[in-house]
Amino acid sequence: MEFPKIEKKWKKGINALNIIYPNKYYGGVYNLAVLIVYNLVNSYKNWICNRVFLDRGKINTKLFGFTFQYELDYYNFLKILKENRIEKNKHLRKEIIFAGGPCINSNPFFLKEYVDFFVLGDAEAIVPKLINSYEEEQKKENFLERIAKIEGVFVPEISKRIRYKFIEDLSKTKYPIYQPMPLNIDKRFVFGKSFLLEIERGCPFRCKFCTLPSYYKNVRKRNFEVLKKIIEDGINLNRRKKVVIYSASFVHKDREKILNYLLEKNLEFSIPSLRVENTNANILGLIRKGGQTTLTIAPECDEELRQEIGKKVSDEKYFKFAKIASKLGFKKIKMYFMIGLPNQTDKEILEMVKFIKNFKREFKKIYVSVNPFVPKPRTLFEDYKMDKKTLEKQRKILIREFSFIGIKYKIKSVSSSLKEWKLAFRNYISVVK
Ligand code: SF4
Repeated sequence: MEFPKIEKKWKKGINALNIIYPNKYYGGVYNLAVLIVYNLVNSYKNWICNRVFLDRGKINTKLFGFTFQYELDYYNFLKILKENRIEKNKHLRKEIIFAGGPCINSNPFFLKEYVDFFVLGDAEAIVPKLINSYEEEQKKENFLERIAKIEGVFVPEISKRIRYKFIEDLSKTKYPIYQPMPLNIDKRFVFGKSFLLEIERGCPFRCKFCTLPSYYKNVRKRNFEVLKKIIEDGINLNRRKKVVIYSASFVHKDREKILNYLLEKNLEFSIPSLRVENTNANILGLIRKGGQTTLTIAPECDEELRQEIGKKVSDEKYFKFAKIASKLGFKKIKMYFMIGLPNQTDKEILEMVKFIKNFKREFKKIYVSVNPFVPKPRTLFEDYKMDKKTLEKQRKILIREFSFIGIKYKIKSVSSSLKEWKLAFRNYISVVK
């Protein structure tokens, strides 16, 4: 049982769309894109939209879309089609499949042989036009011809060029206020029963390895008054006591006001990721008061290399941040790093270990997550080649060193990262140069 659900009855003439998260339900309930489409489509009187996940729900519509957060979800996509007995060959099937999400925005050719059309940019700017077109024309070929003209829709074989469409003012865009969650959840639901609050979209930083700046050219922020109303409505409607703030780097000019407002309302809150150079003692104090005990940061690598890859933050800033955070009572720090970066040799790996050791002075609990660097399309590193041998070697060095300093860690497997790399460039035609 989920709450709250948008209940709509089937009746003659009603149109239907499924939005699919090609991975587990316990992660998918926190996906904002799914919630945006679910709320948006259901806001039309004569439309019904249901969510489908890898492990929950069945496809029961002729028109349905997937959101791709990870390239490895490609395998789940095929699995879902098979389980729902949907023909893979788009020229032979009657159903219309579309796809969007970060993987598609970074490589719109990703699944071009299976998917009928792609949504590039913000769903809010594109989905209403798709709905209008579908109401007017449901014959697949005609519908595809028609929507190929919409900015932000890419129909392989028909569209002349790739165009993204973004909303300009996030404050004027309807918020996905209905956020269904199961009545009983277990610890796999990492954010617990919470209301997701997207305060801004995009990121002002330009890390060379990140795909986000390649398609989101600027940061759009929701204004404070609008956010207050969203919080009020969202908490009441969903009956939640906790808010999870969605933002790529938490740069909102009113961020302190937002946190203070949440405290005034007696709400618990958490912020999944922070840029340390952008976070002062006051903000950290407010986050602590909001009930968060673990902080998550992404130093990525040693200082010199960090500058090279475009993350211009000194070690000193991280250490200062750690000192303030531990004084304020944060118990645990989670840190994300990469191996196999361009110009990263054994020396840089050992520097990285030294850097991590410094945090032991401030935090009893340290959790380190290490991922092989996977070059992505449309980034400045798109031509960089992953090297299995180097990655395995660096992985071994870290396992050895981490056993000496005694921290909790996880190093992602090299083979799955290589698969992710291959998939990221599936059918890709470069647009970077
Ligand atoms: S701060 Fe994070 S989201 Fe922003 S560009 Fe860098 S890696 Fe990407």
